[in-house]
Parts: sequence; structure tokens; C-alpha cells
Amino acid sequence: MHIPDIIIAIDGYSSTGKSSFAKLIAKEFGFMYLDSGALYRGVTLYAIEHSMIGDDNVADEAALEQALPGIDLHFVQEDGECRTYMGDRCIEKVIRSLAVSRKVSPISALAPVREYVDRKLRELGSRKRVVIDGRDIGSTVFPDAELKIFMTADPEVRAMRRLKEMQAKGEDVKFEDVLENVRERDYIDSHRKVSPLTRAEDAIVLDNSRMTMDDQMEWIRRLVAEKFSNDLV
Ligand code: C5P
Repeated sequence: MHIPDIIIAIDGYSSTGKSSFAKLIAKEFGFMYLDSGALYRGVTLYAIEHSMIGDDNVADEAALEQALPGIDLHFVQEDGECRTYMGDRCIEKVIRSLAVSRKVSPISALAPVREYVDRKLRELGSRKRVVIDGRDIGSTVFPDAELKIFMTADPEVRAMRRLKEMQAKGEDVKFEDVLENVRERDYIDSHRKVSPLTRAEDAIVLDNSRMTMDDQMEWIRRLVAEKFSNDLV
């Protein structure tokens, strides 16, 4: 299927499988995958390594704002994967560490950090044929994206997926605790002051509570075929 030159914005709640879905779409449609969370994680890594975050989790916003233009964060396509780099160092693995995960929320709430990430994403997306996942891509970063998807799933289903992931990593956790954490993160993501998680009015909701990845790929193929039938050759 020929896919037109469009931007696909995928937003939604945590643990809905946004990045797995976005990566598969990128592969099938021949698009570039942009992981906005990875940029927030990269800035957080920089702030940690330059001692810009206090024990109270409060960052030195002024120092970080000054440093931002010099943090050379970019994506490199390697072995069919999109990896995050800081300068010539691959940081793909370290940005997924617990140390970074613990600090990324307060860092991503800072306005200068959001402006920096938004600017980078807009530069990368200007040539279209990108699929981007995040929390505010369709609402704030690319309000004109041709296709916006908002992913959701029952909290219990998401908690069960997280539980299985954590158990596979050998972590000893209880379902009730994971469910509480999922609900708490939904609340924080939707209520923060800067760029909260919101569904863009023109976003199409995908509730994947009872869908497999194959079902989701079938869903998007059909959606693209219907929505862009005039552009398809
Ligand atoms: O998607 P991921 O879990 O890697 O994102 C890491 C963190 O970055 C999220 O928990 C959220 O705080 C922040 N984020 C954001 N806006 C985005 C993407 C991620 O605030 N567009």
C-alpha cells in the first residue's frame, strides 16, 4: 500500500503499548519513528550527570535552560532500530534505567525542557513520513498532524500488562500496587500544569483493551486506506 506523506501522532495513557505500536507502523509504512519520551529521558540523563537535580528532585532550571542548546540529542537509525544519541554516545539503554525513570517526570514538567523537545521534534517532523509517540504530540507539538491516534485501555488491563513485564524482569510485585501506580500516573499525566495529557479533538480513540497487535495493525491499515483513499495510488 502506498502511504501518503503524513505525520502520525500517537498519544495516550501509560502502558497502552504506544511505542510498540508506533515502531511497527514505522516499519510497515517506511516512516521514521520518533520517540518523544526518549528526548525527555536524554535531557534527564544530562541533568543527572551534571548534578543539576537536588535530592528533593528539584532541578536547577536556570542552569539546565542554559545548557539545553548544547545538549546534542539526536536519533540514529541502526540495524533497523532508531537509537537515541547524546553527541557520539549511544544512550538508548541508560535512558531506560530506573535512575532516569525516577527523575524524568519533574524534568519533563519544566517549560524550557518542553520547548527544547518540541523544537527538536518539529525539526525532525518537518519532512513528514514520521510516526511520533508521546502525551501531547497531537494536541501541542503537531496540532496539524494528518492522523492523530489517542490510545487507551482499561486500567486493569494495563496494570496486568505492566505486571507481566515486571515479573519477566524478575521483580516481585503485587497486582494491586501496579494498578494503583497506573491510576496515579494517569492522574499526574492528565493534571500537570504544562502540556497535560489531553486528547486532541480530532484524534481517533483506539481502545486496545481487547486487541492483539495484529488487530491494531489491521485497524490502522484500514483507517489509512479509508481516510487517505484519494491520496493512495
Ligand atoms: O514515553 P516514556 O515513558 O519514555 O516517557 C518518559 C516520560 O517523559 C513520561 O513519563 C512523561 O513524564 C514524559 N513525556 C512527556 N511528554 C511526552 C513524552 C514523554 O511529558 N510527549
